[in-house]
Amino acid sequence: MKFVTFFDAARKEQVGVVHNDSIHALADLGFPCQDMPDLIEKYTPDLGAAIAAKLANAGTGIPPGEAKLQAPIPRPRHDILCIGQNYLAHALEAARYRGKEYVKPDWPTYFSKRVTLPVGHEGIIPAHTDATDKLDYESELAVIIGKRMSRVPKENVFDHIFGYTIVNDVSARDRQVNHVQFTYAKGMDGFAPMGPWIVTADEFKTPPHLQVMARVNGELRQNGNTNDLIFDIPHLLAELSLGITLEPGDILITGTPAGVGMGFTPPKFLKPGDIVECEVEGIGVLRNTVQ
Ligand code: MG
Repeated sequence: MKFVTFFDAARKEQVGVVHNDSIHALADLGFPCQDMPDLIEKYTPDLGAAIAAKLANAGTGIPPGEAKLQAPIPRPRHDILCIGQNYLAHALEAARYRGKEYVKPDWPTYFSKRVTLPVGHEGIIPAHTDATDKLDYESELAVIIGKRMSRVPKENVFDHIFGYTIVNDVSARDRQVNHVQFTYAKGMDGFAPMGPWIVTADEFKTPPHLQVMARVNGELRQNGNTNDLIFDIPHLLAELSLGITLEPGDILITGTPAGVGMGFTPPKFLKPGDIVECEVEGIGVLRNTVQ
């Protein structure tokens, strides 16, 4: 099932479900919820089946053109959890950009990404030209936690996942290098475009092996597969939940494949007017314009 957060014609924020290419507000189907994290917290396979049964007789919903999609989780309860350099080919291009030799790490590099200004599908990525001139994109598979996770072993990790979406881990490379950190360089307002929707985990194989792509102005730049993750989803979530309790609606992004702007010689950074499309197989395309 595909769940969305959208503004209806009255600019009221609603949680909805996509069915036959139209959107049904869950409240109209008789399943009111405050927001996406509230739905995720309440969600069970029985609730999913009840929603599907209602949809079978629901008629036509809101046409996509009349519903303005928001980030599926516009106000995450916590910062997004992130992994640095989790695809080998991307780790090599990042090392080359810094003029350093790549050494395969024994441990993942974790950091978090703030979402102060949510950006959904077709939303604007602010260029922040006064703060950076090395704006970059990173197409990533995002995991949405469904059940509270504390000390969950690897073999049980997938029982705790609600679904998957796409996040563009927008980055200011000059800030990342100069400040030797990620918090500022990846946490600027509007640097976490997300969407277009969350696809529930039951629609994917376990583990999901998905193609992860990015295009800029139609040019294919990134084209990797989650098969190539250095640290896979069970590794990451088992390790994180050993020390940090993860809650329903928490978001983990899993790293980005090779082909980001800094990986090219000369680099291909983003500029106002560029259209960035992040695509993950089985989810869809998240399209945003830099402005
Ligand atoms: Mg990233």
